[in-house]
Amino acid sequence: MQSHPAAALESLLAFWTEAGVDALYQDAPHDRLAEGARRAAPPKPAVVARAPGPVAARPAAIDAGSALREAQRAAAACTTLVELTSAIAAFDGCGLKRAGAARQAVFARGAPEADVMVIGEAPGAEEDVQGRPFVGRSGQLLDRMLAAAGLEGRVFITNTVFWRPPGDAQPSPQDQAICEPFLHRAIVIVKPQVLLLTGGAAAKSVLKMSEGILSLRGRWSEWTDPESGATLPAMATLHPAFLLRQPQAKKKSWSDLMSLRARLDRLQGLA
Ligand code: URA
Repeated sequence: MQSHPAAALESLLAFWTEAGVDALYQDAPHDRLAEGARRAAPPKPAVVARAPGPVAARPAAIDAGSALREAQRAAAACTTLVELTSAIAAFDGCGLKRAGAARQAVFARGAPEADVMVIGEAPGAEEDVQGRPFVGRSGQLLDRMLAAAGLEGRVFITNTVFWRPPGDAQPSPQDQAICEPFLHRAIVIVKPQVLLLTGGAAAKSVLKMSEGILSLRGRWSEWTDPESGATLPAMATLHPAFLLRQPQAKKKSWSDLMSLRARLDRLQGLA
């Protein structure tokens, strides 16, 4: 028996959704509504005279230099996390915000005076809906691992960029650079004792290193505040989304978390 085309399409869409595909892009915009209208067009469509309307405003191209200066100015003016949250939401200089995938800014969650700041790559679909980082499946795994390492309630969680990239692509180094003044300000305000960078995109961007995550993970590095020159211990680890795909890699992440916990205990005079 041949399945109905609508049922076949529904099942294909369900398969893609299950596989994590939630956006489809083509090189050029494709007006599906016009295409459908053409197919269903009556033989003699009524012609409706209309006054020429305003042309849809296209966002002006972003000048990266002025966007960065604006981010630096806005971030430097913030002395609290509340101010930083508002400044990020009001900031229009990041191309991801204008790319159209993001519903809202996703800044941070967690303890405002945390011992550990976790920095991920970029918000995904669930984060975009809730406006909070790491709340989807990978965030739930991250929370379980942090709790098992005795770090529940001791972490502040954010990302290198604050808007969901279209198609959940990796954020570009330019988008990360433009968001960076806000991230640095968050580190200065929260004053964590260590940074935990999840995944290669976060590790490379924050530590300014080009090695892959498999060689960076589990090693201690230093993050240097470009303003004050102050340094913080920083460790890169595997991204929890990777662990969901490769559960056998969890033992590497666990050993990274144990090393982080031991360093924290030493910093706090507990070991
Ligand atoms: N992955 C990230 O890197 N950050 C999130 O907030 C969610 C998923």
